[in-house]
Amino acid sequence: MEFDYDLFVLGAGSGGVRASRMSASYGAKVAVAESMFLGGTCVNVGCVPKKLFVYGSHFHEEFQDAKNYGWDVPSSSFDWPTLRDNKTLEINRLNGIYQNLLDNAGVTLYNEHACLLDPHTVQVGSATVTARYILIATGGWPVMPDIPGIEHAISSNEAFYLPEFPREVTVIGGGYIAVEFAGIFAGLGAKTTLLYRGEMFLRGFDDSIRAFVKDEIAKKGVDLVFETLASHIHKLDDGSMRLDLTNGATLTADTILCATGRSPKTQGIGLEAAGVALGDRGEVLVNEDYQTNVPNIFAIGDVTDRIQLTPVAIEEAMCLSSNLFTDQPKRRMDYQNIATAVFCQPNIGTVGLTEAEALADHAGDLDIYESQFKPMKHTISGREERTLLKMIVCRSTDQVLGIHMVGPDSGEIVQGLAVALVAGATKAQFDATVGIHPTAAEEFVTLRSVSRQA
Ligand code: NDP
Repeated sequence: MEFDYDLFVLGAGSGGVRASRMSASYGAKVAVAESMFLGGTCVNVGCVPKKLFVYGSHFHEEFQDAKNYGWDVPSSSFDWPTLRDNKTLEINRLNGIYQNLLDNAGVTLYNEHACLLDPHTVQVGSATVTARYILIATGGWPVMPDIPGIEHAISSNEAFYLPEFPREVTVIGGGYIAVEFAGIFAGLGAKTTLLYRGEMFLRGFDDSIRAFVKDEIAKKGVDLVFETLASHIHKLDDGSMRLDLTNGATLTADTILCATGRSPKTQGIGLEAAGVALGDRGEVLVNEDYQTNVPNIFAIGDVTDRIQLTPVAIEEAMCLSSNLFTDQPKRRMDYQNIATAVFCQPNIGTVGLTEAEALADHAGDLDIYESQFKPMKHTISGREERTLLKMIVCRSTDQVLGIHMVGPDSGEIVQGLAVALVAGATKAQFDATVGIHPTAAEEFVTLRSVSRQA
């Protein structure tokens, strides 16, 4: 049967764009449909604008820290529209780059909503087209909890475009987005409270990291309220809000940011018509080659609700394009040792197993190395910020199983160390590596004494 396209992609985010470009480069005739913004969550309302805001929010500490280094910094003030709008300009520039990437690769772009009519037919705007393969790469969308008055809260999508900078902010949630935005708001001068329902936030990260980050974030002035939920949000006459909390207390805020997770975007794209099966969380179910239960339909990235990270969606796209359109040996992504960073302040960088995960298979065979210190910069600045490094080693094999760090630029440092973990490095090889002095990263090659065995 003749099709209009070899591949039709729904969603031009990180995964969809990469799959489109790579497939086209292998000679496939490709179209991609996007009804919102090119580049998806990461470029528009995620990683990129978030990191720009993190940079912006750090300056006030730099001004304070400069004093003991001899700088007389005149009083400073912050102008939200400048940061917000310069960020938007940069995002617009990136949208244009994505457009060029698709154009140059010869991919047809439909700036329209697409909906499957059957396994090979797509309605896109007023057109109906057919494709041999279809890729669902529609990403995810913030989930708002079921709290009376939740309509007065915003999600991270709106946080990037606030008309005015808030004076008092409450962030609900205890994952990546909550801690990153709590740091941004506090750093830019808002009185910030983070409400988390459990005992300790950042579930899934190493316990030493979670406890350490809690102290560091609290030092920055964020009020951390754990084991508490908002039970009701009231809009007051003056436009501000009051949150009734499950611990009996109340909070006031002029902005409430809800960062309670993201769910796959699978509604309204015709998955039922095409017969694509979804899981309990609404995710598109796929096998290890990203194939759904409908053999010619595939899905990658956040819509599969596995690891919601841009580089993961991109690697999945690389594997899928190669497998569909080349004769190369089958590519499968290795989900072990995926490094990640949380851009809270200070940053978290992590790769490999947490101590709890390592204990599951290696109990009684672990050496744990931990080191805490004041970063060199703060010996003079006077700031009471500390850095934590942790390494988890299997004693019998000497293999390094996990590396975790809290401190400035941990993401940058751990990215390099992730190569060593992927290569299966041993503690002896770390020890044989000469450090770069004076850096925080050199501590990872000078960890001499075991802090404890587990
Ligand atoms: P996460 O899943 O990371 O965290 C959600 C948080 O909200 C958890 O603390 C969870 O608590 C809490 N929560 C969930 N439901 C409720 C509820 N009904 N009431 C109160 N609290 C609730 O989601 P995020 O929204 O922070 O981020 C989504 C994903 O995006 C991340 O998992 C990550 O993969 C990705 N991301 C990556 C970034 C990076 O690489 N730096 C940055 C931002 C996002 P509990 O732990 O108890 O379940």
